[in-house]
Amino acid sequence: MDIGQWHSALEQLLLPAECLLCHALLSPRGAARIVCPLCRQRWRLVRPPWCERCGQPEPHFGPCRLCNQWPSALKSVRSAAWLTEGVQQAVYALKYGGLPRIADDLAAAIPQLHGETDGPSVLIPIPLARQRLRERGYNQSDMLARALGRKWRIPVFPDLLVRTRETPTQTALTPETRLANVAGAFGMNNEECSMINERSLIIDHWTLIIVDDVFTTGATLAEAARALEHAGARRIFGVTFARAAIPDFT
Ligand SMILES: [Zn+2]
Ligand SMILES: [Zn+2]
Repeated sequence: MDIGQWHSALEQLLLPAECLLCHALLSPRGAARIVCPLCRQRWRLVRPPWCERCGQPEPHFGPCRLCNQWPSALKSVRSAAWLTEGVQQAVYALKYGGLPRIADDLAAAIPQLHGETDGPSVLIPIPLARQRLRERGYNQSDMLARALGRKWRIPVFPDLLVRTRETPTQTALTPETRLANVAGAFGMNNEECSMINERSLIIDHWTLIIVDDVFTTGATLAEAARALEHAGARRIFGVTFARAAIPDFT
């Protein structure tokens, strides 16, 4: 049993069998879940028509403004659900509730990437700044990546990407200022890179799938992809559980 399994076993013992969001009793059959089927059905899934690359609703005119500055190795990004109230609650539970088990529920909503990921792939969570990691005790993107790794049966490299500096909270920024806010925020963990190369898992032949909890403007994913591209990555995808609607941005 690894730490994560211990943690979920402990959670199972300590938690009442009720939905984390609406507190309805969960059927014993759904006991592995922490969000009830009704709450999950209320999540509004992100669906096409969308920009093939960033997965945002299709622009009315001309090329998509959201992803035209992305590094070329970042091929496409998909999210499971729009950031409505219930989805926001689920994200908060993952982020601040100290309930990593909810990661499995969120991962279950993320659709499999088709075809794009033929060949070996690996999941890479967006790292937290060290200070925030200390405060929170875990990285929510890491939890989500591990849950996806269990679901898709692909490995997770949690230490490959590192934050090279702290970034101010993104909440109130416009798409343009968000991009500036995260510029140069990520780098590669050299030790991890050389270990990977020793195991001849060459970064430029693998499909790298970056994992984050919420997609807001894509600035964070794009910047992380930039760091991976510098290290030689050529095929990068991104997945997030939630996606915020950007007002007046089409
Ligand atoms: Zn519920
Ligand atoms: Zn786009």
